Amino acid sequence: MATAVVYLDGDPREGVLEAVTLARQVGDVVAVAPAPLGSEAVQTLGRYGVTRLVHLETGGVAMDAPAAVGQALADAATQLDATAVLLTSTFGTKEIAAHTAHHLRAGLLVDVGDLRLHEGHLAGSKRAFGGTWDTSCAVTTDRGVATVRPNAVQAEPVQTPVDVVTGALTVTAQVPAGLELVSREVHDSDSARPPLAEAAIVVAAGRGTFGDFDPVHELADVLGAAVGTTRDCVDEGWLPHDAQVGQTGVTVAPRLYLGAGISGAPHHIGGMSASQTIVAVNIDAEAPLVEMADFAVVGDLASVLTDAAEAIREHRAQS
Ligand SMILES: Cc1cc2nc3c(=O)[nH]c(=O)nc-3n(C[C@H](O)[C@H](O)[C@H](O)COP(=O)(O)OP(=O)(O)OC[C@H]3O[C@@H](n4cnc5c(N)ncnc54)[C@H](O)[C@@H]3O)c2cc1C
Repeated sequence: MATAVVYLDGDPREGVLEAVTLARQVGDVVAVAPAPLGSEAVQTLGRYGVTRLVHLETGGVAMDAPAAVGQALADAATQLDATAVLLTSTFGTKEIAAHTAHHLRAGLLVDVGDLRLHEGHLAGSKRAFGGTWDTSCAVTTDRGVATVRPNAVQAEPVQTPVDVVTGALTVTAQVPAGLELVSREVHDSDSARPPLAEAAIVVAAGRGTFGDFDPVHELADVLGAAVGTTRDCVDEGWLPHDAQVGQTGVTVAPRLYLGAGISGAPHHIGGMSASQTIVAVNIDAEAPLVEMADFAVVGDLASVLTDAAEAIREHRAQS
């Protein structure tokens, strides 16, 4: 049976469990973590069918630099004789995936929405050109590396939870010569909300807010959503750059994207058009985002978002 390695860049959150769910289609799933995990995390992995969890022993080499992590992960994949190495699709994990593929001399699939073995090689599907094309692709090497697009699949537990075997794996890792980590600053401006790039629901708002994001945050909190915005709002200083969706910001593909007071410029649409359901709120019925949306509400966003939050709260209270 083929082995699929899934890299854990922290506790097993939704995006990681989606990758584990896809990994089961390839074979036996081994999770690889940079450090030992707590018992709750191990049990969660067992509920999703992970048979083995190894943490990397690097002989004191810090797992900060993506190049070092990629090398360590490649070594782990070789020792575990893995056919596939899967990661989530954040900026950080995509960089690790590239280094891993380089060390393994393996093909790399980025942002796949499904996975399978095609004649023994890793194959997957991905959206291209701003979500307008669905493509199939396969690596031609014996091992393949893939990053899994957030929200592409629903994380599914297995019918019978597995007792996960845990242990350490000694691997080779080197921080490249000339690279020194001088300082590290974690930007966690919106820690109470899910990370924008992986969120299942994104409530985004643009210049139509005129800088007042209170109704946006209110609706996002009710929905458990991440908050996104446009570049113009970032340039105005209304929200930080890590909230920017689009060509020069974060690419999102949530199950639900709500864009309020956003015109729908191509630079913005390029970063959200792979969303599964798009809802627009705008006073202009002919705005491009309204025209491409699955549902649209023509009206003032301040009242529409506040009313929506209130209606959802009432609905929940009654059910
Ligand atoms: C090289 C380059 C890269 C770029 N990269 C990005 C990027 O990554 N992401 C990005 O977003 N942009 C990017 N941009 C900018 C992009 O081209 C647009 O300027 C920007 O997306 C527009 O932002 P907006 O929709 O908030 O504002 P606008 O285009 O001004 O639209 C505001 C909308 O709000 C509506 N509105 C007004 N009042 C209300 C109200 N009360 N209620 C409801 N609706 C209302 C209006 O009808 C309008 O449709 C880039 C531009 C360049 C040149």
